[in-house]
Amino acid sequence: MSDRPLKPATRAVEAGRRKQWTSLPGQPGGVVNPAVWRASTHLYDDSADHAGGRPNEDGHFYYGRRGGPTQWALATALTELEPGAEGTELFPSGVAAIAATLLALLRPGDELLFTDNAYEPSRAIALGLLRQYGINARAFDPLDVDGFAAAIGDKTRVVLLESPGSLTMEVCDIPALAAIARDKGVLSVLDNTWAGPLGFPALARGCDVSLMSLTKHVGGHSDLMMGSASAAGPVLERIRRQAQFMGQVVSPDDAALALRGLRTMPLRLERSAAAALQVATWLAGRPEVSAVLCPMLPGSPDHALWQRDFSGGCGLFSFVLAKGHDKPARARLIDALELFGIGYSWGGYESLVIPFDPAPIHTLRPWPAGIDAGSGLGVRLSIGLEDPADLIADLERGLAALGEP
Ligand SMILES: *Cc1c(COP(=O)(O)O)cnc(C)c1O
Repeated sequence: MSDRPLKPATRAVEAGRRKQWTSLPGQPGGVVNPAVWRASTHLYDDSADHAGGRPNEDGHFYYGRRGGPTQWALATALTELEPGAEGTELFPSGVAAIAATLLALLRPGDELLFTDNAYEPSRAIALGLLRQYGINARAFDPLDVDGFAAAIGDKTRVVLLESPGSLTMEVCDIPALAAIARDKGVLSVLDNTWAGPLGFPALARGCDVSLMSLTKHVGGHSDLMMGSASAAGPVLERIRRQAQFMGQVVSPDDAALALRGLRTMPLRLERSAAAALQVATWLAGRPEVSAVLCPMLPGSPDHALWQRDFSGGCGLFSFVLAKGHDKPARARLIDALELFGIGYSWGGYESLVIPFDPAPIHTLRPWPAGIDAGSGLGVRLSIGLEDPADLIADLERGLAALGEP
């Protein structure tokens, strides 16, 4: 093969495919995908093999808690998709990945800075779980790059980033924030669930850990829960040890599902991002909508930064109802939709809708700067693989149900 770097769709097809996981020893040929290896016990060949021990690395049979070939194939694929990563730990959910990573990298007396527009359970981990361990946590404004160095204190050891932010979708300058953090000896952990490594190569952009909820785009079919942390060097070792201490392991059945999802992820992301842009553009022209919070949308406040740093998007964005609409009207809108399920999560093949009010969870800056927050009532959409024309017709029906403002 030539030295030309492979394109994202090709990388997703090639990643983590090793003959030793898809063929039988001593026999020619093999199959495409690794088998689902259900295993607790891993057998040793003889006493000498047992006495020699086995290193705790992917690819060595040891014990089921360290995974088997199905999980190794998934972890290896994710590592290969994240430039700069030397390994990936798998967790039974995205939240488990966030909690274990923060516990691995922080000690009593340390401080965590977390982005003010963090995923709500991340905020709960910071202010709840970490406090139990004597770790202080403070929110910071991710859009204030100039004030960031001053926000970092003597005890700050880790900064938790997310971009675009949960619900309100602000893009922040991750390379600049990560560079400031590194300069001060602070580790940057990015919740990269929205873009993933193909849309935003987090480690290459200066972060130390790239976290993902694989429940979303990698799974892609709303049928599994999983999370991952990709990193390198001593940071990876600390996360790996923490995962082992806490007995974190994912089932081989779920790993096989996630691997299956991974192969079509670029195709699904491309399609749902294009459809989301179409829907967002339509919503931006509607009088019932005061703002569309979608960095992929040309003219949105974050579009230039998004274009600079991201090479892809996805189907998740939000909008705000114009002044005069109230919560019952928003509920009528949502209930009138026939093609959008009401539910959490996103990144599946089916479209979803959820109402949100950021004020209680985004405490420093509830709404992005420079938008018309209108009624202050948010609606988040996850655009799936339906035809966008059908989704727009459905939303038209929903907006009609709002009634007069
Ligand atoms: C869903 C989500 C998570 C948590 O993932 P689970 O797999 O649901 O535990 C973390 N971060 C973001 C941004 C998410 O959307």
